[in-house]
Amino acid sequence: MKKKTRRDFIKISAIGVGGLALANPVLDWVPSFLPKEKTPIDESKAERTPTICEVCFWNCAAFAYKGADGKVQKIIGNDSDLHSTGRLCPRGTGGVGMLYDKDRLKKPLMRVGAPGSQTFKEVSWDEALDYVAKKTKEVGEKYGYESIALLDHGTTAHHFEHLFKSFGSDNTAEPAIAQCLGAREAGFINTYGAGIGSPEPTDLRNSKCLVLIGSHIGENMHNGIVQDMSIGIDRGMTVITVDPRFSTAASKSKYWLPIKPATDLALLLAWMHVLIYEDLYDKKYVEQYTYGFDDLKNHVKKYTPEWAFTKTDIAPDLIRKTAREMANASPAVAIHPGRHTAWYGDDTQRTRAIAILNALLGSWGKKGGYYFPEKIHVPHYPTPHYPEPKWTWKDITKDKYKGAFTGVTNILIDASLPDTKLKHKIKAWYITATNLIQSIPDQEKTKKAIQNMEFIVVVDTMPSEITGYADVVLPECTYLERYDYLRTTRHKEPQIALRMPAVKPMYESKPGWWIAREIGLRLGLEKYYPWKDLEEVLDWQLKQVGTSLEEMKKIGVKTFDREEALFLEDGEEYFFNTNTGKIELYSTDLDAMGYDPMPVFKEHPQPEDGFYRLIYGRVPMHTFGRTINNRFLNDLRSENHLWVNPKVAKLLYLEPGQEVWLRNQDGVVSSYPVKVRITERIRFDSVYLPHGFGNKAKQMKTAYGKGAADWELITKVLIDDVTGGTGMRSNFVEILTDNPNNEEVKA
Ligand code: SF4
Repeated sequence: MKKKTRRDFIKISAIGVGGLALANPVLDWVPSFLPKEKTPIDESKAERTPTICEVCFWNCAAFAYKGADGKVQKIIGNDSDLHSTGRLCPRGTGGVGMLYDKDRLKKPLMRVGAPGSQTFKEVSWDEALDYVAKKTKEVGEKYGYESIALLDHGTTAHHFEHLFKSFGSDNTAEPAIAQCLGAREAGFINTYGAGIGSPEPTDLRNSKCLVLIGSHIGENMHNGIVQDMSIGIDRGMTVITVDPRFSTAASKSKYWLPIKPATDLALLLAWMHVLIYEDLYDKKYVEQYTYGFDDLKNHVKKYTPEWAFTKTDIAPDLIRKTAREMANASPAVAIHPGRHTAWYGDDTQRTRAIAILNALLGSWGKKGGYYFPEKIHVPHYPTPHYPEPKWTWKDITKDKYKGAFTGVTNILIDASLPDTKLKHKIKAWYITATNLIQSIPDQEKTKKAIQNMEFIVVVDTMPSEITGYADVVLPECTYLERYDYLRTTRHKEPQIALRMPAVKPMYESKPGWWIAREIGLRLGLEKYYPWKDLEEVLDWQLKQVGTSLEEMKKIGVKTFDREEALFLEDGEEYFFNTNTGKIELYSTDLDAMGYDPMPVFKEHPQPEDGFYRLIYGRVPMHTFGRTINNRFLNDLRSENHLWVNPKVAKLLYLEPGQEVWLRNQDGVVSSYPVKVRITERIRFDSVYLPHGFGNKAKQMKTAYGKGAADWELITKVLIDDVTGGTGMRSNFVEILTDNPNNEEVKA
């Protein structure tokens, strides 16, 4: 069989397994259906403005090019940018579709119908903002400003976090922490004294071995990582993929380990066993940098590959062979930390196991493993100290979830329920750039909390399920129409990047910074807004780091020198930010908080007869629900398919393409049917459904009603006992061939 190349991998990433037959690799790809001029745009003459893509959180820096008609025609990656190295993924290229989406929120709206009804009247900005300020004041004075929560996502969050701190609430939370990467951060913080952050600092270009555990690089198009992985593969990197599903990444792997779901920790512990008991770990590294090796050695003694086989279905020989592959590559080996790590409720411990395995292989701080990322400190524009809130998210979270390190969305939602047992209550929500109904599991609980809110305001670019529940909807302009704070994320070299408007805001939409400031001024918070617009703030900030807005408008990205080394020298002294100053194989903090100091395998329920574990994931042309109404991207993938193993198909007499419905263990049925895809690429005990489809907001005309929604079926949530994060891989579904929905689907 012909060896697959990096080019092949990138192409596969673009189309997904068995997906669309695009002719070109994704990162060179420009959708043929993007608005075109009669003659191709001449980049040397066209007006270009720097931007930062907001189609996903990767935030690639780019330039937007305008045609003679004044419209954005093209978005091309900025060559200086380390997030993208000048190449955008298909979603970023198709970002123009977000700007020119006819279904965008166009004017401020006030709800006139019942919650969820999506019935509004259009109002002026003054009317909307006055009302938001009045309700904020009312709730703040009655219950304290701490009782107002911000549930946010994306760059806009920063503007509202400043507003919240200014009026005295620190109760902000991003669904991405509880639902995605919170457990991973806690796992690494409790091992290395440092979290992973974004982008993940894995040096895949130089890796000899990459291990992916339920991480679908290539389907989750995290641009820089996809490119790095592709380069690593071209250079001969061995890939080991652990996944119940034969993902795009699995198709590029030397080893695919189709693990029984919910048993990953057993495999990780068995790998530790092999490395330690076969003397394959990096002894010098472990001796110099780690704490608790002897404890760990005793701890994993019982976790033999033979034991792990009984849990994982992975043969002992294969467990040993793959552990030896990792050891051979050490230290140029990366056990990838994953990103969406909220699975089964013991997620901090599972990610701790990944962190420990990396330490045994000596890969943290080593070329081909993990590098030390660096960022440049850009000072905040001077404003007075914020008022001290009387209580914060910590007071309702830390008693139970002692390892939580930031606000947790589901805890703030718990505090919003009428019958909450928590000692403080939330009474109003601001929601920015997140469709809470889709992004938070257990919709019924979210809806119950919504009914109890005295006031909800949503700030977003698009209508969605959650806008239907807002008292006021404020239309934000898209990233191509606004300034935002600088991107200052950590990377191999410190960089800053600028987003500025390529075109004026369309319709009556406004930038997030303007909306937050206008509310602040109406609340009498002028002293926190001593500037007239964000250009003034940015120019001041840029001058503090030796550049200016004028310069950044031309270059978009500026790179600074590193202050510290990228990797550890052999034998170099290093102090880790833990209690012991070492990498803690035995976590002293977890121990002190009453948790297992080393990961312990616990059994999780498996599906009963007739049920299959619901596994969800991504397709490369969509960022969950954010892109689904983008007609360019919807053209590429407008609906999802249910992956079903041939054995299951035979048992249920299913045909390829047949429409089915899903019913979960709690009797919840999918609103829309989904077509079956029969494939060996999924285990017989699981089904797979890409996320972001099955939209129920009729205002999203392109996306409405297409495909089935996994989020409707995620009603059982296993809470991570360390961080409070929401494990969502705990739902089982049965497959129904007759439509069980007698009524018309209600939005
Ligand atoms: S990875 Fe793609 S969608 Fe995400 S920011 Fe980069 S170009 Fe945009």
